[in-house]
Amino acid sequence: MFQKWVEKALVEGKEKEIEVRKDVFWQRRCRIIGRVGLELTAKENFDEIIEKPCIFCMPEKLAKFGNEFGREMFENGYAFLFPNINPYARYSSVCAFKKHYIKPEEFKAEIIEKNLELCIEYIKKVMELDNIKYASINWNYLMPAGASILHPHTQVVADEHPTTYMEKVAEKREQFREYIKEEMKSERFIGKIGSISLFTPFVPFGFNEIVGVVSGELFSSIDEIAQALEAIISYYGSIGRNSFNVCIYASINNEFPLHFRCITRQNIAKYYRNDAMFFERLHSEVILEKKPEEVAKEIKEYLKMQ
Ligand SMILES: [Zn+2]
Repeated sequence: MFQKWVEKALVEGKEKEIEVRKDVFWQRRCRIIGRVGLELTAKENFDEIIEKPCIFCMPEKLAKFGNEFGREMFENGYAFLFPNINPYARYSSVCAFKKHYIKPEEFKAEIIEKNLELCIEYIKKVMELDNIKYASINWNYLMPAGASILHPHTQVVADEHPTTYMEKVAEKREQFREYIKEEMKSERFIGKIGSISLFTPFVPFGFNEIVGVVSGELFSSIDEIAQALEAIISYYGSIGRNSFNVCIYASINNEFPLHFRCITRQNIAKYYRNDAMFFERLHSEVILEKKPEEVAKEIKEYLKMQ
């Protein structure tokens, strides 16, 4: 399932090594090169946008649900969920935290769980209204991760049709289970948080990637997912990263196991270098500096200290 080899290049008489990895399940490769500063670790001041209230600070101005939802928006003490005015699917909503700015290390399990609580209330509602087969809870934290607004918010996408990723894991569900088993047997297995098993993938989709496989179903697992996300995001904060993506993938009919992926993105900076270049966007290959085995070791040590 996993293959790797080293290619050598001569640069001004010096040998440079490129580790190429291939993951047979995903049919994806990645390349691991020496440390050259691909990941931005420097932090710039962005107080200017932190201090500016935004549309998510004014819930009265946001889009409202129609009568079929029985309420204009979903709300609890920490978050509110409303329709996405630019929907990505038949059901597409935004769940904003109530605070305009939250640092990565401040995302405690309790506030993440409160956000996920509204996301699942919304998913339950759309399941009543329609034949929904797939749902995802997604998170772009800060602009380098794709957020258009600084104010932290997750997004639910629910539809009868899967995304490309979901279709792959649903169609090859047996191989996907084998793939998960292989990852868990490896040195990249991090450990368990409740019923969630965490690992770093052999061929990651992005920097510092961590995958969590949940043994329960979505509606009864958000407390444990929130605990795992608190641990991962706080680890990201500890290694100086302030932008990340999270995706929780759910199949209503259990066509694939409930799981999530988290990656860091470039730190927020004015003239930043994007982490997706021609290799990532046009060759479907990720370039990394840090081996997934090192990420696993680092987060294991970090979690031990907590
Ligand atoms: Zn705001």
